[in-house]
Amino acid sequence: MEKKIGFIGCGKMAQAMIAGMIRSNVVQPSSIVITSKTAETREKAAREYGIKPFEQNIEAAKKASILFLAVAPNLHTEVIDEIKDFIQEGDIIVTIAAGITTEKIEKMFGRSVKVVRTMPNTPSLAGAGMSAMCTNDQVTEREAEEIKRLFQTFGEVEVIPESLMDAIPSISGSSPAYVYMMIEAMADGGVKQGLKRDQAYKLAAQAVLGAAKMVLDTGLHPGVLKDQVCSPGGATIAAVSTLEKEQFRGAIISAMESCTDKVKELG
Ligand code: NAD
Repeated sequence: MEKKIGFIGCGKMAQAMIAGMIRSNVVQPSSIVITSKTAETREKAAREYGIKPFEQNIEAAKKASILFLAVAPNLHTEVIDEIKDFIQEGDIIVTIAAGITTEKIEKMFGRSVKVVRTMPNTPSLAGAGMSAMCTNDQVTEREAEEIKRLFQTFGEVEVIPESLMDAIPSISGSSPAYVYMMIEAMADGGVKQGLKRDQAYKLAAQAVLGAAKMVLDTGLHPGVLKDQVCSPGGATIAAVSTLEKEQFRGAIISAMESCTDKVKELG
């Protein structure tokens, strides 16, 4: 990619995207600039990814034509105030923050700007990210396609209406945390039954990866795939029955609702 890509804030999510972009070989480290307030992060960015770090946010704003705001939602006003005079016509602002609408971003700039609102997730680090995105009216179809291709360097992308963006953290942005909890619990269950810890993590994680791949590759309903694992009177249906009794599915749906409630508060 020719254009300079800037990141304001280089925390967990920005680093996952940067690592994914560089791994793909589509984006060269020399095309990326980051800013961070902490010397440790700046050193890490230079050492691990070979990218140019700056302390001052305006440096990324001046250099990049695609500028990611990768700070917490409550820092957007402060950061935009700092950089708004350095954003040129044609520059694209990409936000990854939960709950902040494209309209709010434009209001913070006090003028019309091109805004792409996205919600990535941290598996982007492993090239297996899942992102959702929408744009405001200022962004052309060609520019939207360009940003989509950038996100595709570290995973899959779905373009959705902005009205659904608040729901995305609950299903793909935050959900890796729930899956890690399940893997950890499965591994604990394995260790309790005598398996070695490292083998237990591998067995659990690979089973989750395989099940996800079956859903994606076969296109079959997850319920059908579940039925295929359950033989009559067998061990799997005994486990499924216990999960139903313990309200496994209800717990996940409630957790997702809590997540979305929080997203709305953050925005
Ligand atoms: P983080 O705390 O790891 O990173 C935020 C970074 O911003 C930190 O490195 C911090 O030093 C830096 N920062 C703070 N104030 C700054 C300032 N004034 N100027 C420049 N940098 C500043 O958080 P994160 O998890 O990477 O989240 C960042 C954004 O990504 C949030 O808006 C969050 O909603 C979004 N997000 C996170 C995830 C996730 O899984 N972590 C997923 C999707 C979206």
